Amino acid sequence: MIIIVKKGADEAQVENLKSLLKSRNIEPHVSKGSLQTIIGCVGDVAHLDPALIEALDVVESVQRIQEPYKAANRKFHPEDSVIDCSGVKIGGGNFSVIAGPCSVESEEQVVTIAHAVKAAGATMLRGGAFKPRTSPYSFQGLGAEGIRMLTVAKKESGLPIVSELMDFKDIDCFNDVDVIQIGARNMQNFNLLKEVGSYTKKPVLLKRGMSATLQELLMSAEYVMASGNPNVILCERGIRTFETALRNTLDLGVVPLLHRLSHLPVVVDPSHATGYAYMVDPVAVAATAIGADGLIIEVHNDPPHALCDGVQSQTPEMFARTMERIRKIKAVL
Ligand code: PEP
Ligand code: MN
Repeated sequence: MIIIVKKGADEAQVENLKSLLKSRNIEPHVSKGSLQTIIGCVGDVAHLDPALIEALDVVESVQRIQEPYKAANRKFHPEDSVIDCSGVKIGGGNFSVIAGPCSVESEEQVVTIAHAVKAAGATMLRGGAFKPRTSPYSFQGLGAEGIRMLTVAKKESGLPIVSELMDFKDIDCFNDVDVIQIGARNMQNFNLLKEVGSYTKKPVLLKRGMSATLQELLMSAEYVMASGNPNVILCERGIRTFETALRNTLDLGVVPLLHRLSHLPVVVDPSHATGYAYMVDPVAVAATAIGADGLIIEVHNDPPHALCDGVQSQTPEMFARTMERIRKIKAVL
């Protein structure tokens, strides 16, 4: 349910309305736009009579939100959300490129890549330390030690860092991590989403599960938001279809659709979406052109010897060319 507040209503009246909602166990989310103020109601609104609320002096109108996602819904928050990632903004016209290796392999590797991607124009550094691998015999990531190396690269480059959390028991390792990535395989790990949402207000980069519908993606964002963390960035990384020629199938149409359904920023991952380094550039450019709020791209200094996802990793030189083309597209737009 959303409550549209009358123009010119004073703060005290809005506060009284918020207290009334809270007394009914409903969490009010106030969204002050340039034209109107909206109060989104999170909680069990089934027992709240809309007529009762509408009768209040301060209320213009009340609307029920039909979709099961409320806090993530564009109706709830008509303006784009701008998420602040330790000073780097994303959403609402702020475009951001996250780049770095699939996995942190050594301090030297991640520091070298951090400098290279920063020089090319990346605004954040990625690097997996806790890796969700299909095979238990594959490299599993360096864990806490990998996060430590990533924080060295953060200090040296000045780039905020993004890393995947697989298990909440590792959260203490993430104190210096600026954006917590929830991977595709954990998109519906509801306990993890609730734990992250209630523990921190750090931005969460939520990757679409490989068989998840957009509604399921938005419901997972809702879990984080309803638990107390409104700072969610959605990530489209392709889904699994009958097509096996590419690693995943990427439908860029989801970018404008997600923007219509939700106010949250949408990032595209052309690396996992395609699986091949040569395709990352054209897909990154296309994603930029269609209106993505950012990109997350895997870059490795020595892709043939990468411990994870080398085939889809750009070299720093390839990444620099892609950044150049992205800048041109942005200038045209
Ligand atoms: C990753 O970003 O390295 C990763 C494992 O991505 P996804 O969860 O999208 O497969
Ligand atoms: Mn990867």
